[in-house]
Amino acid sequence: MSQIKLKQVHTSEDRVYLYHLKNILEAQGIDCEIKNDRLSSLAGEIPMLTVWPELWVKDAMKEKWAKEIIHEYENNENQGDSWTCENCGEEHGAQFKDCWNCQSIKAF
Ligand SMILES: [Zn+2]
Repeated sequence: MSQIKLKQVHTSEDRVYLYHLKNILEAQGIDCEIKNDRLSSLAGEIPMLTVWPELWVKDAMKEKWAKEIIHEYENNENQGDSWTCENCGEEHGAQFKDCWNCQSIKAF
């Protein structure tokens, strides 16, 4: 019953990003671990694709949940584009819907 099965939920060439995801999942109570992290020092001998670090959850029951969290996180990241006011050239973060400088509405 208590057998633990690991499931891979994500892989990325950006290990810093994977550790970031690991922190997010663990904050939700999902235990994870990173595999293949140490292999980068051997990159000269192994094709690059095989040395990407992998993020695994320690409880297979939480695999789907973990993937949903990652999916949601990546969607939120993509919405984070800043924009420039066409009227006055002021730059704004994605959370602003109109220009605080000249009150123009954000143009899409
Ligand atoms: Zn403006």
